[in-house]
Amino acid sequence: MSTFTFTIIKPDAVRASNIGNILAMINKAGFRIVAMKYLKLSEQQAGQFYAVHAHRPFYSELVAFMSSGPIVTAVLEKEDAVASFRTLIGATNPAEAAEGTIRKLYAANVGENAVHGSDSDENAQIEANFFFSSLDRF
Ligand code: ADP
Ligand code: MG
Repeated sequence: MSTFTFTIIKPDAVRASNIGNILAMINKAGFRIVAMKYLKLSEQQAGQFYAVHAHRPFYSELVAFMSSGPIVTAVLEKEDAVASFRTLIGATNPAEAAEGTIRKLYAANVGENAVHGSDSDENAQIEANFFFSSLDRF
């Protein structure tokens, strides 16, 4: 069954001019882009998006990083989209990410790790709704 996931190309990957490389990998892996935006989060917006991590020791670092520059957000469609995209991006820490994954290729470290990918269908919907209305999806 065709399902959806949500992604962010993070500020480090945008700064390194890797938007095109990452979108090419997403398309080659068979994802359809349903919605897409280029924007910059305020610290408050980044804090709200990552509120589930508020108790973790790296939260303030994460919020500062995610609001440090422009990002690309997108909704992606594919069979088994959430799991398939987590496979494509690789482990959170690029040192542990499999060869050929987006994070292995483009992430610098566990914090500045190039891309976000939803971890469940429920969170994909919550995260997509944070950035997109139904009118933005094609
Ligand atoms: P993932 O993005 O793989 O789902 P998590 O949900 O655990 O990983 O963490 C969310 C984000 O927080 C990570 O993508 C990364 O940017 C940041 N992060 C995670 N762990 C650390 C850490 N130990 N130190 C700094 N930043 C971290
Ligand atoms: Mg996560």
